Amino acid sequence: MMVVFASSEIYPFAKTGGLADVAGALSKKLADYGIKVFAFMPMYKRVDSEKYELRKIEKSITVSLGGKSYIFEIYKKMDGVSYFFLKNDELFGRDYLYGTPEGDYPDNDIRFGAFCYGVMEFIKSENLRPDIIHSNDWQTSLLPVLTYHKYGMHDVKTVLTIHNLAYQGVFDKFAVERLGLDWEIFHMEALEFYDRVNLLKGGIVFSSAVTTVSPTYAKEITTPEYGHGLEGVLRKYKGKLYGIINGIDYRVWDPETDKCIYTNYCVFNFERKSDNKRSFLREIGLSGDNRPLFIFIGRFAKQKGIDLIMDSVSELSKKDANFIILGSGDRQYNDFFSSLIGNYRNIYVKVGYDEPLSRKMYASGDFLLMPSVFEPCGLNQMIAMRYGTLVVARATGGLKDTVKDIMEPEGYGILFEQFSKDRFLNAVDRAVRLYYDQLERFKDLQKTVMTLDFSLDSQTSKYIKLYEALKYSKEY
Ligand code: ADP
Repeated sequence: MMVVFASSEIYPFAKTGGLADVAGALSKKLADYGIKVFAFMPMYKRVDSEKYELRKIEKSITVSLGGKSYIFEIYKKMDGVSYFFLKNDELFGRDYLYGTPEGDYPDNDIRFGAFCYGVMEFIKSENLRPDIIHSNDWQTSLLPVLTYHKYGMHDVKTVLTIHNLAYQGVFDKFAVERLGLDWEIFHMEALEFYDRVNLLKGGIVFSSAVTTVSPTYAKEITTPEYGHGLEGVLRKYKGKLYGIINGIDYRVWDPETDKCIYTNYCVFNFERKSDNKRSFLREIGLSGDNRPLFIFIGRFAKQKGIDLIMDSVSELSKKDANFIILGSGDRQYNDFFSSLIGNYRNIYVKVGYDEPLSRKMYASGDFLLMPSVFEPCGLNQMIAMRYGTLVVARATGGLKDTVKDIMEPEGYGILFEQFSKDRFLNAVDRAVRLYYDQLERFKDLQKTVMTLDFSLDSQTSKYIKLYEALKYSKEY
């Protein structure tokens, strides 16, 4: 089985969020299972080719779009997976992957469109015969459209994974021309969306199968509340829509071997976890290692429920608990959280993207806050549990599929339903009480969550089953 796997970010080469984790971990695991994986991503400025020993190959690819030619140099790395990085500095030699804090780059259609053409040209010129082309999110969802409409590869099957339906790649209608597409696919049943081009919609319509990253989210996105305008299309294609829950790479996220944390630990000596909390609080200048420590790690975006935290700062500052917040994103949130720095005795904030710090937080935390408005799957909660940190989350999407409230039999987390400050603070209070009033139970739950299985095995075997079913199916 040969799979071309394309993603706009792949861990560890470039990452802004969970997409990179999943793309990196899944492609590697597929290769471990004997699948021949060719993984493609753009070569951004921040990809460190020396650190990762990427080698430039002789070949280059030229893509012509809108009367302009884009030459891609190609860098390669063989590591179980064959990785290919397409380099064109005009398109990708920028400070950010998708846009600055002020907004998206205006030429994202050309940037990622040209990348998709580059992948197809590479496949053609190398005479690769993939069974499956697997694309991820809107940035690569032009691939299924090109596979059938431009390259006539009707024997190849395509899978599109939606990691987050909120981002769809919507551009003015002349993107049809800019992307070298035919106007005949600009209609309601294909790429057209309120007189604009919607690349994700094109991917949904033309792919052989569409997956999303949790069973609950797969159901939610067929409803107006979570469908972001695409619920009708998703309902129409329900027959080829699958919810496959993500896993995390247990080699990457392991408190026993993590080099960034103060003291390594595992379920058998998990008391050592508290050394991390003590050292970390000392390092950042917070006192009270006998108080519960709540952490938040994530993009500062509305989706993450960050408004609930913002609105609750005054109440949180009065709790007998510490809070550490790490994130970055939309300007108004960055500004708000920057303004908190140094103002509260029990709240520590770092605005930015900082993986080593996030690892210390996972290792030190007692509770992870994840009050998301919606959450396709969410990885933070799985990572947190792997590090023995209990999860306080809103019951939505993948959070619902991975966290069970302690009020349920065999529950091990704290969930709240309604998106409101009141319910959020109530959940925080339940956590605080669990910590102070039932410390033994709290510790047992820490051990429980460390032994839950969020590894990649089940996710990977589901994808392989899907690939196999598609490969032998007559339809496309
Ligand atoms: P997203 O919606 O952003 O993809 P996920 O929960 O699926 O959310 O994945 C988030 C990933 O990004 C996790 O690995 C998390 O640790 C990491 N992450 C998010 N924000 C930051 C940050 N500011 N610094 C370090 N890591 C972060």
